[in-house]
Amino acid sequence: MTRTCSSTHARRSEHIVAARVADCSRRALATLLIALGAALPGLLGAQTTRAARRDGTVPILEYHQIGGEDARWTRSTASFRKDLELLYARGYRPVTVGELVDGVLDLPAGMSPIVFTFDDASPGQFRYLEKNGQLEIDPESAVGIWLAFSKAHPDWRNKATFCMLPAATAGHAFFGDKGIDGQKTAWRFQKVKFLAEHGFELCNHTLWHAQLNKYDDRMVQEQIARGVMAIDSAVSGYRVRTFALPLGLWPKNRALAVAGSWTDPRTGKTVKYGFDAVLEVSGRPTPGPFSPGFNKRSLNRQQVLGDALVRLLDRNEATRLVVGPAK
Ligand SMILES: [Zn+2]
Repeated sequence: MTRTCSSTHARRSEHIVAARVADCSRRALATLLIALGAALPGLLGAQTTRAARRDGTVPILEYHQIGGEDARWTRSTASFRKDLELLYARGYRPVTVGELVDGVLDLPAGMSPIVFTFDDASPGQFRYLEKNGQLEIDPESAVGIWLAFSKAHPDWRNKATFCMLPAATAGHAFFGDKGIDGQKTAWRFQKVKFLAEHGFELCNHTLWHAQLNKYDDRMVQEQIARGVMAIDSAVSGYRVRTFALPLGLWPKNRALAVAGSWTDPRTGKTVKYGFDAVLEVSGRPTPGPFSPGFNKRSLNRQQVLGDALVRLLDRNEATRLVVGPAK
């Protein structure tokens, strides 16, 4: 556009220049219209005049590793940033699983809730950088990207749910340990505390990602109870309300995914747990908390892979929950 419409054409005869200016104007107009067309869904999404729909559906997004190339279990930082922009432009604002099950959707009228869940507690989700003895949140980790986005968009609150493993291998232990990805073991609790103090929700995903369908009742309860105990060690007294089933697999005794207890044989101390919400791994956008089909003990999630988010939002459009004016 700038090349073919540049002033070098001014040396040509007047009528050619006039024709070219008209041509350039037409093309400029066409370009403007195309740009407007591209921006339109975003502009429409950002409007607050969307009619309220209390009994609508709510997508619950599921992320695993953040960073590296886009793959089955990995979302690149570039794609993650685009996801935030896309959701913002289309009028979605984040809520935690806890807020969803309580039906407390503290969003401006015309906006729709979106739930972010991050599974497996890898360093790419929350990484520290040590600079001159000071710890900084890596701006290229999910938490760093989220906080920067929230700063630029103040109505994007720190509402995401982290379904953590405290003691899995390969750095999946409260966002990295043993020097994996530059993360020190000593930083683990500090990260968990930071999340809780800044509005994010802490969710249990078992001790080390045990496939609960394989084990007896005692082991199932130990895996879940010790996950809860580890969160309590990091944030004393924190009530863990949400549990994410590893690989979406239920224990043989399904009730134990919701409530149970385990006695530590070393101390004789019994730990009880009870969750308000249980997260599955896949399925359609879940009916919202004001819909008859809402089942907080079996909430479907959607993995964010490739362009799945765009398709998910398109599919959710007709039924999406939209917050009405405050009463
Ligand atoms: Zn997992």
